Amino acid sequence: MTTSKIEINLTNSRKEKPNEENLVFGRHFTDHMFVADYVKGMGWQNARITPYAPISLDPASIVFHYGQTVFEGLKAYRSKDQSIRLFRPEENFRRLNQSLDRLCMPQIDEANALEGLLELLKVEEEWIPKLEGNSLYIRPFVIATEAFLGVAPATTYQFYIILSPVGSYYEEGIHPVKILVENEFVRAVKGGTGGAKTAGNYASALKAQETASSQGYSQVMWLDGVERKYVEEVGSMNIFFKIDGEVVTPAINGSILEGITRKSIIELLAHWGTPVTERKVSMDELAEAHNSGKLEEVFGTGTAAVISPVGELNWNGKTMRINDGITGALSKKLYDALTKIQTGENEDSLNWITS
Ligand code: PMP
Repeated sequence: MTTSKIEINLTNSRKEKPNEENLVFGRHFTDHMFVADYVKGMGWQNARITPYAPISLDPASIVFHYGQTVFEGLKAYRSKDQSIRLFRPEENFRRLNQSLDRLCMPQIDEANALEGLLELLKVEEEWIPKLEGNSLYIRPFVIATEAFLGVAPATTYQFYIILSPVGSYYEEGIHPVKILVENEFVRAVKGGTGGAKTAGNYASALKAQETASSQGYSQVMWLDGVERKYVEEVGSMNIFFKIDGEVVTPAINGSILEGITRKSIIELLAHWGTPVTERKVSMDELAEAHNSGKLEEVFGTGTAAVISPVGELNWNGKTMRINDGITGALSKKLYDALTKIQTGENEDSLNWITS
């Protein structure tokens, strides 16, 4: 996958761009995609940019049966001066390699993958939304393509990057959501694949999400897989709490996905002189803090929403209202700081932007 060898084959039928006023997440895709092939013993080869098109695969391909696949998610933003900005893309390719390793899939060359992405963005520049708050969602993924029904790591793979223009997560400004604490199903266990961005984690989360949605909650809060006692994540976001002035987030433990937004918040708060404590957080502790008025703020963090304040937590039928259901000052401050770095309104003092 070296850029000097990226072959570019442009389409001669460009799609009509969707209306930027009402972009639905993940429904529109650009005209081209990046692809590279892997063959065991030969490494990655045939890096190319080709017209966006369906993938033709043997029905026996390992990805369809045993789920050998990993993905990433990041965004490109257009600043007011029209420059294109990526938020910490090298972190996404580093995490992609960690996920690949967990699934016995071959490592990619992170620098070459980033060059491939930048090349694709050059080709698709016009697809990067102009409306404030909109962005271009980037989805790199790797699939096991070998046709084989034995349960074993594949010997052939494909690496893709596809792009999707998306609207602002918050059409009417940042606002708190209702969360149901999940006591039956778990997202991941220690020793499992929770620390990797792999399809199975998301498929197995659907059941709980469906129940929560049908009861009017926007996401579930996941607890640990052994005792259902400690908080892990919320939906597909990491989670933070402000308890009696202290900012706390569950420590990375093998079953929690190490979010890049999470990492950025920890670094930003350290930079501001308010270190985050990474440790176990139990539901009992949260209930007690809530009872004594010390549970000041709760918020999820991830690429899609950046910060998602929690206004209400339901645990075992009991409702904890947080900060009167209003977005807390810290949540708002972090949201503003991160989004302004992403869009170039604020100085990139921590060197997070690739443009
Ligand atoms: N946890 C899970 C399970 C996720 O899918 C995501 C989204 N990638 C996150 C946390 C947040 O990660 P990031 O901040 O890198 O988007």
